[in-house]
Amino acid sequence: MLTGMNAGNDTPMSRREALKIIGTGALVAGLGLTKTAAAEAPAVAPALGWELPKLPFAYAALEPHIDAKTMEIHHTKHHQAYITNAQKLLEGHADLLARGPEALVRDLASLPEGPLRTGLRNNAGGHVNHSFFWPLLAPGGGAPAGALSEAVTKSFGSADDFKKAFTDAALKRFGSGWAWLSLKDGKLQIHSTANQDSPLSDGAKPVLGLDVWEHAYYLHYQNRRADYVTAFWNVLNWTQAGANYAAALKG
Ligand code: MN
Repeated sequence: MLTGMNAGNDTPMSRREALKIIGTGALVAGLGLTKTAAAEAPAVAPALGWELPKLPFAYAALEPHIDAKTMEIHHTKHHQAYITNAQKLLEGHADLLARGPEALVRDLASLPEGPLRTGLRNNAGGHVNHSFFWPLLAPGGGAPAGALSEAVTKSFGSADDFKKAFTDAALKRFGSGWAWLSLKDGKLQIHSTANQDSPLSDGAKPVLGLDVWEHAYYLHYQNRRADYVTAFWNVLNWTQAGANYAAALKG
């Protein structure tokens, strides 16, 4: 994890960066532990707050498939903007703020109709979706394993058939949105949503998601969404997808 760190650069910033990278290493080691235990005891993710979650890898870790600049802007600008906008919308609504982003997205109908509901659908949705997305990325890629592998084969024929159908959903989503593998009513489904709509709002539990907004790929791939989706399979963290599936099954 320390490869590429400039040890000779002794500015305070570089020390902070170094600590961040060492912290990332520890987190990756932690994920390694989750990996072996995932089939029996998936870690229960703590409820999401209103802060920008740290990425479990360095911005450059997914290169050449997703470049460092895209990752940095996507994380620090786009994702942060959803949080900032949601917080602005929630000024004077301490009760809603306290419910947390996921609970709001799960029950949009409980929000007053109008700009508040629409704004939270977009911005709390954006925060929830991106927070779900980052841990699904990891250097190295892999293949589906365990219970998720069996379920994917049963639902879609094979891992390759699943990839084809998911890719199709990602490419056919017109404009901005997401492609998903979700569990709904006990069944795996491939679908897509527009803008920052979350499967949670539809009573589905996401297992795997792919951001197909242009901001996710435009710097490196320009208009070539298909190349980005192809590259995604090289950095998909199937261990995390497996843990998401186990958590979804538990309800
Ligand atoms: Mn995005």
